[in-house]
Amino acid sequence: MLMLGMACVLSLFVLATRTMDISEDKYVMVIAQHEETRLNLYTDGVYEFSSSEGTNKVTVQDGKAWVSFADCPLQKCAQHAPISRVGEIIVCLPHQLSVEIVSTADTPVFDGIAS
Ligand SMILES: [Zn+2]
Repeated sequence: MLMLGMACVLSLFVLATRTMDISEDKYVMVIAQHEETRLNLYTDGVYEFSSSEGTNKVTVQDGKAWVSFADCPLQKCAQHAPISRVGEIIVCLPHQLSVEIVSTADTPVFDGIAS
């Protein structure tokens, strides 16, 4: 009987953890030189992406992400406003880099099924 109670408490805990994950349902996907990096949108940090083309720094703070530094000629990526909503994207064409807010609910299976 005691064991059963323990199991109940344990499953409740797992359920609570899952619910918490659902509320944080997006992350930052950085694609640099065709290489994908996933950043936690809720963990502040500065991430540097360097290639033979140049350097970009992506800052994540307060649930927003933006390009805080770039040595590309156009500077369009560095001038872009911070992004925080799913689907928003910052692109640095010269460096082949993109920063996008992606929903974890998006399952890359078949396009026609998800509405
Ligand atoms: Zn750029």
